[in-house]
Amino acid sequence: MRCVILGILLSLSLSGVSQNHQPSSSQIKLKLKKLNFLGSVLYVAAHPDDENTRVITYLSNDRLAATGYLSMTRGDGGQNLIGPEIGELLGLIRTQELLAARRIDGGQQFFTRAIDFGFSKNYQETLKIWNKEEILSDVAKVIRQFQPDVILTRFPPDERAGHGHHTSSAILAQEAFDLTNNSNYLPDQVKELGIWQVSALYTNTGRWWNQTINENTPGIVSMNVGTYSPLLGKSYPEMAAESRTQHKSQGFGSAGSRGREMEYFEFVKGDKADKDIFEKINTTWTRIEGGDKIQPLIQKCILDFNEENPAASIPQLLTIRKQISLLKNSVWKNRKLQEVDQLIRDCAGLYMEARASEYMASPGQPVRLSMELVNRSPVSIEVVKLKSESLALDSSFSLILKNNDPVTIKLVKNMAGNKPYSSPYWLSEPHGAGLFTVKDKSLIGKPENDPAIQINATVLLAGQPILLIFRWFINGLIL
Ligand SMILES: [Zn+2]
Repeated sequence: MRCVILGILLSLSLSGVSQNHQPSSSQIKLKLKKLNFLGSVLYVAAHPDDENTRVITYLSNDRLAATGYLSMTRGDGGQNLIGPEIGELLGLIRTQELLAARRIDGGQQFFTRAIDFGFSKNYQETLKIWNKEEILSDVAKVIRQFQPDVILTRFPPDERAGHGHHTSSAILAQEAFDLTNNSNYLPDQVKELGIWQVSALYTNTGRWWNQTINENTPGIVSMNVGTYSPLLGKSYPEMAAESRTQHKSQGFGSAGSRGREMEYFEFVKGDKADKDIFEKINTTWTRIEGGDKIQPLIQKCILDFNEENPAASIPQLLTIRKQISLLKNSVWKNRKLQEVDQLIRDCAGLYMEARASEYMASPGQPVRLSMELVNRSPVSIEVVKLKSESLALDSSFSLILKNNDPVTIKLVKNMAGNKPYSSPYWLSEPHGAGLFTVKDKSLIGKPENDPAIQINATVLLAGQPILLIFRWFINGLIL
């Protein structure tokens, strides 16, 4: 192993963990297929565990849709079956449980500022305690940001939902559906995110309030989520069970199932589909101006993919990346650029990890950081720059990563003096019974804080400059 000492830099504190998961060739192939699908769904409910993980898993991995789950609350008001934490601390645990679930089922997690204040008999009480207009603006923000084609609500917008929070989640989703395309609704939000018209909204029905439904019921769109993925070696309900089992503080454990599993969707608003929720939506690259050239490039890349040598796909992926980067800015451009960058890393088997010697630090304190970089492909990779504002790191150099030859970079830097406390953003200010106080509106919707330390590496990959972002999460940072 080669070892490089880059020198001493600035200030920071850390104990970081990078997210390193090298997918297998079959998982890479699935990601390639997903790169060629441009459809999205936002699932909306009230609590951690309300979400239908079978639907989220199926949509994300079989239909290859960008799939989000918006939970109104973080589950702060529930019981904790595995520890003493309740209230805000339980909300923190359940936030992490939802993020763990999404890492398995492929969904993206969002929250509003609403607090789970315990059982609520009706939506009038809930919306009063939450402050309806504030939470509605949060729902609208997530919709304008994520730009879903379809919204699926877990519950009906009336007393059949059983819990005031559940009913309210459906009411808010339906009201937001009618507002997000209106440029007069929250004009500051429009200035930042633009307007968005969701194509259709359905209720994920067929549960306790309506058990007589089947696929022949008029007006019902059905979906068999029980199919099997040969690329993943699992049925989607098996994957969904693993996702659902992450709700450990609620004592959940699910064995999963195999075979046909029907889900039913009752049309509520928008452009109604007859058989399939995507049938009225253009889910190809032609939905984007200039995107028509990209669809066949990705199709060819999928056909040419060699599972014994994923790195052979990198030249094609670089061409695809270039074409995507020429498009006008849009949600899909950003989403697909991130996907293609990750695919390039995956195909190169590129492993980059940073470890810190301490788990916390104060401003001005030195932080020892050890980075491991390995290129596990024959493709030429040269690291030319490392940059981190938190560490006041801005170093240009040339480091060639040879095939399967690990390099260790050792850094000692001081923590930047202006770093804020790394406490969860929704708990930084005092709050009332129903609504967290978040002064920085840009944070609303996010599941958790951005990492306390982020390092950007500029890499020349087959001669093309690529910015790879490595984000290190800092645990227990004390400043
Ligand atoms: Zn619930």
